[in-house]
Amino acid sequence: NTSLHELDPEVAAAVDAELHRQQSTLEMIASENFAPLAVMEAQGSVLTNKYAEGYPGRRYYGGCEHVDVAEQIAIDRIKELFGAEYANVQPHSGASANQAALFALAQPGDTILGLDLAHGGHLTHGMRLNFSGKQFDVVAYHVDETGRVDMAEVERLAKEHRPKVIIAGWSAYPRQLDFAEFRRIADEVEAYLWVDMAHFAGLVAAGLHPNPVEYADVVTSTTHKTLGGPRGGIILAKKDFAKKLNSSVFPGFQGGPLEHVIAAKAVSFKVAASEEFRERQRRTVEGAKILAERLTAADAREAGVNVLTGGTDVHLILVDLRDSELDGQQAEDRLHEVGITVNRNAVPNDPRPPMVTSGLRIGTPALATRGFTAEDFTEVADVIAETLKPSYDAEGLKARVKALAEKHPLYPGLNK
Ligand code: PLP
Repeated sequence: NTSLHELDPEVAAAVDAELHRQQSTLEMIASENFAPLAVMEAQGSVLTNKYAEGYPGRRYYGGCEHVDVAEQIAIDRIKELFGAEYANVQPHSGASANQAALFALAQPGDTILGLDLAHGGHLTHGMRLNFSGKQFDVVAYHVDETGRVDMAEVERLAKEHRPKVIIAGWSAYPRQLDFAEFRRIADEVEAYLWVDMAHFAGLVAAGLHPNPVEYADVVTSTTHKTLGGPRGGIILAKKDFAKKLNSSVFPGFQGGPLEHVIAAKAVSFKVAASEEFRERQRRTVEGAKILAERLTAADAREAGVNVLTGGTDVHLILVDLRDSELDGQQAEDRLHEVGITVNRNAVPNDPRPPMVTSGLRIGTPALATRGFTAEDFTEVADVIAETLKPSYDAEGLKARVKALAEKHPLYPGLNK
């Protein structure tokens, strides 16, 4: 019964410091969010103690009657939320979901076609050092000079290489994909279409983004980005793929599911079906549009700051610093100095190495969850624009960040 603080003050101190960091800075990493307390309560529950290999009603362990309830609720809710015929809520992460999905659709050595990592794709879509790049024959498509996915190239490569799987999805891309066109191309070359909606799943749930479930054979997602739940993955699909996907997750790649995380997923799916969640997603997209507007204004452009594709349809923008005196690393550090957390990000055809880059990825989901309004996002955008100018008033900007953080307290009940 010893508390964390009593048993392990060193780890407790790191947790406390992280709480303070989240409360006192502005979190703008596009893949992050703040899970509700109820989600964290489920995730920190006794369900962590339970082994439950198998699926609800068909387990390889006794005593699964209660975790079965929680897992079935998670499955039912996520199917309803996205209109899916099948759901698997066991993948430990987005990468695990993608691994299970890919191996259910293709064999090692098969050809897959995905968006190049350097153009906004994810590691699991065919990066050289990832399982996807090591075990599959990867062909990559790109964005064109306007920064948008080049669908003509997708079609050309699909016809030339006849991939087994076409992957539509991204980690750093500010626009919606044309799922209907991906489906048409996949049908033409008899490929499976797999959509990885990890980033934009929350927007889909809120009806602010086309739903890939209507087009794809298989859809994967994380649950912790715009969807706002615990860290984890899910797979949705047409029911024809149910058997293959279930056995790919377990026993294919995983052993015991994380039932505490699955219960937390269930709670977050309930939240994601609410009007409050839809309103939050609307502020998320609105905030990103405000950022794009402010960072394409004349004074930002004078400082060499540009926004890829000139704007956004989603929860993030990609800042292009190729004309700026700052590289991605320096810009990330400078924003960190004033209390804004973002990540540097390669721009297409980036002249700088991946550890430095010439861009930033800036997202609004976490601040929208914190309650930021259009007015607050305008102030955030102005602070970012000022920070990226050659001369900047660090102390003044820090004070403005502090005022914004204090205006929207985060997890006030967790302060000791
Ligand atoms: N898919 C996409 C598109 C992502 O952006 C990410 C995470 O960045 C993942 C999958 C992997 O998720 P995880 O980090 O949970 O493995």
